[in-house]
Amino acid sequence: MERKILLSENEMPTYWYNVLGDLLTPLKPPLNPQTKKPLTAEDLKIFPEALIEQEMSTQTEIEIPQKVREIYALWRPTPLVRALNLEKALGTPAKIYYKNESVSPAGSHKPNTAIAQAYYNKEAGIKTLTTETGAGQWGSALALAGSLLGINVRVYMVKVSYNQKPFRKSMIHLWGAEVFASPSNNTRIGREILKKDPDNQGSLGLAISEAIEDAVEHENTNYALGSVLNHVLLHQTVIGLEAKKQLEKVNDYPDVIVAPCGGGSNLGGISLPFIRDKINGKDVRVVAVEPASCPTLTKGVFRYDYADVAKMTPLLNMYTLGHQFMPPSIHAGGLRYHGDSPIISQLKKDGLIEATSYKQTEVFEAGVLFAKTEGIVPAPETCHAIKAAVDEAIKAKEEAKEKTILICFSGHGHFDMTSYDMYLSGQMEDYEYPEEKVKEALGYLPEV
Ligand SMILES: *Cc1c(COP(=O)(O)O)cnc(C)c1O
Repeated sequence: MERKILLSENEMPTYWYNVLGDLLTPLKPPLNPQTKKPLTAEDLKIFPEALIEQEMSTQTEIEIPQKVREIYALWRPTPLVRALNLEKALGTPAKIYYKNESVSPAGSHKPNTAIAQAYYNKEAGIKTLTTETGAGQWGSALALAGSLLGINVRVYMVKVSYNQKPFRKSMIHLWGAEVFASPSNNTRIGREILKKDPDNQGSLGLAISEAIEDAVEHENTNYALGSVLNHVLLHQTVIGLEAKKQLEKVNDYPDVIVAPCGGGSNLGGISLPFIRDKINGKDVRVVAVEPASCPTLTKGVFRYDYADVAKMTPLLNMYTLGHQFMPPSIHAGGLRYHGDSPIISQLKKDGLIEATSYKQTEVFEAGVLFAKTEGIVPAPETCHAIKAAVDEAIKAKEEAKEKTILICFSGHGHFDMTSYDMYLSGQMEDYEYPEEKVKEALGYLPEV
């Protein structure tokens, strides 16, 4: 039996799939944070027109520009791999496949949208892109894109990661971009926070605020977001479109698709082409996997909230734990964003997507099992999906049922070895879902 199901470069998709054209419930529009009215073009001036169009388009298929496809071909199509060793270790009748997005130069799925966003900004005459990054994957992906497309990149990196993950920072530098620990002294919001709390370790929401302020204040400078927005999920659908073709080659189709969920981009990327089938009556489950310490879809509320702590971003209708929510900084597994993609949120609300959450030690345990059987060291985020897949495979064994499981293998963990060391030396702790903190943060939700 073949382990790897490969596509040739000329089988790479030539269009992205836009689920907005097929949604059962249309999304509620983003709102201006001051007026609380639907956004106008003026509100969106930190994005190029082409991306704003994609953000709102209901055309189901959108062509991937030739130049973007040429760059994708540096690592795409990515392999779909049958995890035969993992299946054997689990003694499961289930078939487990993983779509390996860790083969990109940055080591995750994020370049799929970074390349596209840098391309459209370059076409619009933009010289500099600003962005935020948590663990550093997005910052390094955009730095890579900037380097390949000739655009400057300025990255605000959450301070706790900046100090814990120095090699992501080195990659960003290597690809020629600038990177600052957030909160930084570059921006008004950063200086304000530092004055009140000099040891503030930062958060993704705060870094977003800094990156946006930087873009608004400088000429020919736009902002790029690595997840959450509709156009980001659109670009990521290249993952699911390829996976579908690959499964067709072996005459298979997933019963269940599992993906880690932070802002929802790799989950959307792998699942939306299958959700299209589901809307048309096909039977396929899609499971979003979250950390128990930041359980947005499993424990949050579905309503309008800000995407950042400084309330500079538009209000998005989404599942949220409150823009004031900061997950415990000792959480090692990533996926620490308070909100979620409006597309993923609506699909969850409409029952087309399920969500589940796990504690960090069980997540790392699954990651280590994967590394020992399949060889690749998964990113901590990816370990969440592996844990869910392992549970699905064990359930299939108990029920003596055949089942096809598809994992989005969103990235490798080569820069996360500090977290693995913590796990392997028994120093990693679980903590309960921070009910009090969530309750408090939900108290600050905006009235709309
Ligand atoms: C960023 C990232 C995630 C989470 O972000 P999504 O937008 O939810 O996909 C998951 N896995 C890896 C490897 C990442 O880099």
